[in-house]
Amino acid sequence: QTSTPYIYTDSSFINSIIKKRSKFSHKGTYGHTLLIGGSKGKVGAIQLCAKAALRTGLGLLTTYVPYCGFNIMQTTVPEAMCMTDPEFDLLSKAPVPLDKYQSVGIGPGIGTFMDTQQMMEDILENYDKPMVLDADALNILSQNKELLDQLPEGSILTPHPKEFERLLGDQTFEDDYERLELQIMFAKRYQVVVVLKGAHTSVATPLGRVYFNSTGNPGMATGGSGDVLTGVITALLSQGYAPGEAAILGVYLHGLAGDLAASEYGQEALIASDIINNIGKAYQ
Ligand code: AMP
Ligand code: MG
Repeated sequence: QTSTPYIYTDSSFINSIIKKRSKFSHKGTYGHTLLIGGSKGKVGAIQLCAKAALRTGLGLLTTYVPYCGFNIMQTTVPEAMCMTDPEFDLLSKAPVPLDKYQSVGIGPGIGTFMDTQQMMEDILENYDKPMVLDADALNILSQNKELLDQLPEGSILTPHPKEFERLLGDQTFEDDYERLELQIMFAKRYQVVVVLKGAHTSVATPLGRVYFNSTGNPGMATGGSGDVLTGVITALLSQGYAPGEAAILGVYLHGLAGDLAASEYGQEALIASDIINNIGKAYQ
């Protein structure tokens, strides 16, 4: 307990929440994750998300993609099972059953097609455990604000500043401090975790606390970086971390993996796949 709602997440804080794997554990111990994403031309987003999730210690992974993504996922992410939507180019139908998964992440590369909006509505109607929402899943929420009240309690939203502005709608803010206050209000109002991404990503919890991240670098300002974060956080959620912990730990690990990647390749050359390839070292 602390009187100030602002906390800086350094390595000692992270070490206090990270769990060790038990010798007698098995796949079931670490959960089954479902990642929903992709559309024609944006299958890369769900590939990156899936590979990042696999590097973050989950037990089993299933992806749900439009039919055009099936061969791509099966050949490039062999560790994951793959289910497909009946549509070729885009997502249109909610995968069933949803309740068998320990965590669900949705958004990378899905677009905001009418059919995909319908799928999002169905998912929110049928799923009540905390889920991770990113990218166009957030833009769909912005276009259908009534869906915000249907978000399962403890869900994790990972907007970059533009996506967060869209979620706020008509609410305007003067500066970063006012934006931070709106971030806290949003987290409390909808009882969700809001991860506002950027340099020093801030994580606001439903209780109104804010955790500022201490890792990451401008080399991570590159396409696919955010999709990697979604995979990391969803994989942590399936391993039994509470939503706030999964978000804080995920943001920290993702930034640290980015720092390790930058020291290897340089910030300019860094691509999202380099972040994925350094998640293991970041854990160590
Ligand atoms: P997205 O915009 O969804 O691709 O997400 C970008 C990811 O890269 C987020 O996790 C950001 O926190 C991270 N990122 C972008 N720019 C910076 C920066 N200048 N410093 C640190 N991290 C950054
Ligand atoms: Mg993004």
